[in-house]
Amino acid sequence: NEALARAESLIRTIPDYPEPGILFRDITPLLADGAALTAVIDAMIEPFAGTFDVVAGVEARGFLLAGAVAMRADVGLVPIRKAGKLPRPAASVDYALEYGTATIEAHDDIADGTRVLLVDDVLATGGTLVAAHELVGALGGVVVGTAVLMELEALGGRAAVGDVCSVFTA
Ligand code: 5GP
Repeated sequence: NEALARAESLIRTIPDYPEPGILFRDITPLLADGAALTAVIDAMIEPFAGTFDVVAGVEARGFLLAGAVAMRADVGLVPIRKAGKLPRPAASVDYALEYGTATIEAHDDIADGTRVLLVDDVLATGGTLVAAHELVGALGGVVVGTAVLMELEALGGRAAVGDVCSVFTA
């Protein structure tokens, strides 16, 4: 697929960001290109088409993709936010980062049994998406799968996050 190949070429690799030794995948050049953005959004939906009622996107870069996925699939969007950003969080999950911990929260706008597709930009260790999965479950949602733009294979996130489809692998 030519559009997807072009989209992949628009992911910029930045050495030593945000810390020395980290190879950061910057998706902003891809987002800025209309044909590339459409191609990746369609590719994220395709494996899960018709299987989900709502999209849950993880702050912050996940929001950029989740909104597009939701509109393209004609479903709604539930934001999963960092602690302290939502006025009425109904559930929160703590998870470990490389240094310290983080907390994500969501409102209870997910009816029990709602089929949820998780969306984020990059799968690294999987810690964020495992926590997001737990959060959706705490709200009564059923995670049908996880769609990410890029999977960083060496970090092993796939083993932790069940049923993940990535458009690109690095
Ligand atoms: P994990 O919890 O899987 O270790 O890390 C995934 C989270 O960190 C995602 O929410 C993602 O946005 C961010 N992340 C980690 N590495 C990268 C990267 O190289 N590029 C981008 N864009 N995000 C990253």
